[in-house]
Amino acid sequence: MSCESPVIVWFRQDLRIADNPGLAAAAASGRPILPLCILDEVTPNIRAHGGASRWWLHHGLEALARDLRDHGLQLVLRRGAALEVLERLIAETAAGQVVWNRCYEPGAIARDTVVKAMLRDAGVGAESFNGSLLVEPWNIETGQGRPYKVFTPYWRRLRELYRPPAVFDAPDVMLAATEFPSDALSDWALLPTKPDWAGGLRESWHVNERAAQARIAEFLEEAVADYPQDRDRPDRAGTSRLSPYLHWGEISPHQIWRAAAPCLDADAAVAKGAEALLRELAWRDFNHHLLFHFPRIATANWREQFDGFPWRDDPAGLAAWQQGRTGYPLVDAGMRELLAEGWMHNRVRMVASSFLIKDLMVDWRDGEAWFWDTLVDADLANNAGNWQWVAGSGADASPFFRIFNPVTQGEKFDPAGEYVRRWVPELADVPDKWIHKPWAAPDGVLASAGVILGETYPAPMVHHGVARNRALAAYKAVRDRAG
Ligand SMILES: Cc1cc2nc3c(=O)[nH]c(=O)nc-3n(C[C@H](O)[C@H](O)[C@H](O)COP(=O)(O)OP(=O)(O)OC[C@H]3O[C@@H](n4cnc5c(N)ncnc54)[C@H](O)[C@@H]3O)c2cc1C
Repeated sequence: MSCESPVIVWFRQDLRIADNPGLAAAAASGRPILPLCILDEVTPNIRAHGGASRWWLHHGLEALARDLRDHGLQLVLRRGAALEVLERLIAETAAGQVVWNRCYEPGAIARDTVVKAMLRDAGVGAESFNGSLLVEPWNIETGQGRPYKVFTPYWRRLRELYRPPAVFDAPDVMLAATEFPSDALSDWALLPTKPDWAGGLRESWHVNERAAQARIAEFLEEAVADYPQDRDRPDRAGTSRLSPYLHWGEISPHQIWRAAAPCLDADAAVAKGAEALLRELAWRDFNHHLLFHFPRIATANWREQFDGFPWRDDPAGLAAWQQGRTGYPLVDAGMRELLAEGWMHNRVRMVASSFLIKDLMVDWRDGEAWFWDTLVDADLANNAGNWQWVAGSGADASPFFRIFNPVTQGEKFDPAGEYVRRWVPELADVPDKWIHKPWAAPDGVLASAGVILGETYPAPMVHHGVARNRALAAYKAVRDRAG
């Protein structure tokens, strides 16, 4: 432990030691390191964490504290407005520098800009780094020098431009600062207690850096060759499930790219799968690119014609959707998976969000808010970006008239109904032919499967065909009015 003026490493969405440029810079300075995490629920325009995010953050910090302790460092936890917390800690510790990895949400950018300026004015060094994107939003632009609004050319350019940077290994030698008072993690009360709804999350996730590394290794070993097809199959373990680790930074996108790069030179199926994975990773970057350049898309329709859309006020419909009781098995399976695990398969996210927006005509922002509260990977850029994509109100969005049919989507992507049977056990004995449309099954079939519609499982809350026409008519009226 050293009494020299320390460097504060301010951890945020980068809860890892390896490939962490902020931490590596602090280690390279040779000064003692004071790792810090702030629970900032005070600074305006910072969206409060949802319940599932709080759960993840608790475990992420526990793991980070353990890993730092193995390097002889103590993670200090403080609560309050970030600038005030930093100023107080600098006064206590005589820290000469603060380093962090950048976040890209509008509120975080505004806060960090002020923090950087105030610290520098006070004669304290303040440096930020890129720890979570392949390419930062200001380092990639169209031929006309503008931000990209369409994904495919963005991806093409990123593919040309991007080279994984040199690895920032987990620093071996780090000098610890003197110990300073810290909140106890339990004081932050991030875990649910009454009720404790997190049992399914505990069973589903190991929240630490090593688990993220194990996941990418396993994916590349076992799933990558089939990823282009299987990524649409919720009944298979066909995707990496790395999204929460990427959001919270237990793994960096550069680490994923480096791990996947050798596959690009392997046999055709493996190379194609790896390319497809990197393309998805680029969607994550693209959503951050959009949010950075057009911050209003976090809450406002990108296409302003949607401002006049006649969203329905339907609290009962919203609640049935949230609880997985719409009567459409694929939608219900997804919504129940979300409640149980804090995660939902991407194909089912698309179908479930389309159902809320188009079949129920509930504003995408209500769905976005529910996902924000319940996803362990809740991420402002990806969540709003994808909700707007499905709504048709976004930048490079799916057109409004493309309305997912929850029955045919189920039949195509969960053909034997395994996914539905797992999450909607009251339909477990319904034959494959009817599993995605139990209301169409002959009475005898349902009776022998132990299903009474409206009692053991809901009847469909809307008729998809009718709801589809209603949504299209509303959309057409808005479009015609907008000229
Ligand atoms: C309505 C809706 C809301 C969503 N909200 C979020 C969210 O809050 N946070 C979030 O991380 N993802 C969100 N997604 C995107 C996507 O569903 C998840 O990233 C994906 O399901 C994560 O699973 P995976 O890690 O196994 O993905 P993989 O298929 O293994 O992909 C690898 C990584 O690429 C990124 N990625 C994949 N698909 C997308 C995508 N469509 N958009 C952006 N990045 C992508 C993720 O970081 C993912 O971990 C949303 C999608 C929809 C349709």
